[in-house]
Amino acid sequence: MNPVDELAALFEGEGGAEYLGEEVTQAEHMLQAAALAEAEGAPAHLVAAALLHDIGHFHGTVTGRDLMEGGLDNRHSHTGADWLARHFGPEVTEPVRLHVAAKRYLCAVEPGYFGLLSEASVHTLRVQGGPMSPEEAGRFEERDGARDAVLVRRWDERAKDPEHPTPGFDHFRPLLEGLLVRD
Ligand code: FE
Repeated sequence: MNPVDELAALFEGEGGAEYLGEEVTQAEHMLQAAALAEAEGAPAHLVAAALLHDIGHFHGTVTGRDLMEGGLDNRHSHTGADWLARHFGPEVTEPVRLHVAAKRYLCAVEPGYFGLLSEASVHTLRVQGGPMSPEEAGRFEERDGARDAVLVRRWDERAKDPEHPTPGFDHFRPLLEGLLVRD
């Protein structure tokens, strides 16, 4: 199957599931994150990263989220990034990989960021390891895609508004097609 069709099927299927206690579904959350990125004029690879950042939460071919709900980190950022790496380059996959670390990073370096987190996000922060130490934050800044991951993280945090108009998956198809790595 064409990878973009495969993604569309995930958004339409698993994506309709509740998003860990938030007021939007998993798919709405990701579509909204991408819409926020697009509205800010972000480059295509970042709109895609925002759109796909939580793909690792989905069941089926990607991973399960049962562990997460049981209070354990299901490492969704890594499983998602590894799965995406079959079809997209590092400019898309690495911000996805680092978007959970970016939350821990922002909690460490930005006073006030913690206060912006939703209740569910505070809960997951705990299982993801809590705020970074200054040393960890320094190492994070050195990683490829770290700066982009911070941008994705900020859209992620804002993309939980049930009132926000959200485009459908098809809106992003051409952008995704343009980023596919073909061998
Ligand atoms: Fe998210």
